[in-house]
Amino acid sequence: MAEKKELECSFCGRKESETDMLIAGLEGHICDRCIEQAHGLVVKELSESKNSGLSAELILKKPQEIKSFLDQYIIGQNQAKRVLSVAVYNHYKRLLQPATKNEDDIEIEKSNIMLVGETGTGKTLMARTIAKMLNVPFAIVDATVLTEAGYVGEDVETILTRLLQAADYNVQKAERGIVFIDEIDKIARKSDNPSITRDVSGEGVQQALLKLLEGTIVNVPPKGGRKHPDQKFVEVNTRNILFVAGGAFDGVDRIISKRLNMQAVGYSASKNEERVDDKNLLQYVIPKDLKDFGLIPEIIGRLPVLTYLNPLDAKTLRAILTEPKNAIIKQYEKLFEMDGIDFSIDEKALDYIVQKAVEYKLGARGLRSLCEAILTDAMFELPGGEEKKLRVTRSYAEGKMEKSTLSKLKAVS
Ligand code: ADP
Repeated sequence: MAEKKELECSFCGRKESETDMLIAGLEGHICDRCIEQAHGLVVKELSESKNSGLSAELILKKPQEIKSFLDQYIIGQNQAKRVLSVAVYNHYKRLLQPATKNEDDIEIEKSNIMLVGETGTGKTLMARTIAKMLNVPFAIVDATVLTEAGYVGEDVETILTRLLQAADYNVQKAERGIVFIDEIDKIARKSDNPSITRDVSGEGVQQALLKLLEGTIVNVPPKGGRKHPDQKFVEVNTRNILFVAGGAFDGVDRIISKRLNMQAVGYSASKNEERVDDKNLLQYVIPKDLKDFGLIPEIIGRLPVLTYLNPLDAKTLRAILTEPKNAIIKQYEKLFEMDGIDFSIDEKALDYIVQKAVEYKLGARGLRSLCEAILTDAMFELPGGEEKKLRVTRSYAEGKMEKSTLSKLKAVS
């Protein structure tokens, strides 16, 4: 009878007698040392991928791909989309820089973004869509709230509380997130801008924001944090958080116009001047205009990527109704479909909605309210009934609008 062969580790080849333990698998064995080595590898690999915190998909996204993604959700605003795509790309390239640096390494600075554009032109939507694409936590904060409470140092930290909440209290995730600071123009210094009527100067808040924008470690009160019931503060490093600030900067067009006119004086008539499009002066905005508006230069410096959004014309509003991936009309289609109702809306009815939005100066946000005003009755009456078809014609839309409170709005000239 042949002697029984001694078992050995299928990974390192050690004989059973040379190991402390040999564990049998389906087709082989593993020894205690190999288990430990493998465990070490797993831990290292996991912690590395956690540290980078970036998915492979994210790393591969080039500016043009980022823009195509934005195109699916945002109509027009091409310049802003291009600028934003590059800024986001550079921001994440910066994150991928190895942490250990040599003396002469070039340090890439943060590319926080400033979006200037009338309300409802898609500033928040831009920032939100970027966050969706990158699958990172996203928080919106209103700069005006920061002023009202007056208690500057603490208040600014609440920005990070929001982000922490959006990240479900995962600090590492929050530290790669995106914060949208809305209405940054409202914390401008009052004296430089007659259109700001608040009493409190926003300069204190601007100062408090500075450090946050640049990158610092902040003690953040998690406020009602479920996961940290006994932990008072959470340390959050803002170094890799991307800040996008937005504002309408009401009246900045006058500053721009003044600057452009002043420049024009110096030109000789023969010079080939580009014609200024005075219907949309925001496109010429430069950092100095924001300084003249009342932002302190340091804030402007820490939001170095400056771009603008165009006002929405009727054609764009019309496209917003039906074209984006989650366009309002598509949403209604879906809602009706869930009740087995075949919903359709005529071109002329859509034109009517746009016409009303323009008339009442409601912008893109108004499109939704107008649709609600027109469709609420149907959404109330049709589910569960006999009628399985709804076709909205212009006269149907007009009829519903006349009944609604929205029609009490006066047309704005
Ligand atoms: P802002 O932040 O500039 O005040 P928002 O981003 O909140 O404006 O826009 C309000 C709503 O209007 C958005 O939720 C979106 O439905 C719609 N909207 C605005 N601009 C666009 C656009 N360019 N493309 C698609 N939808 C838009």
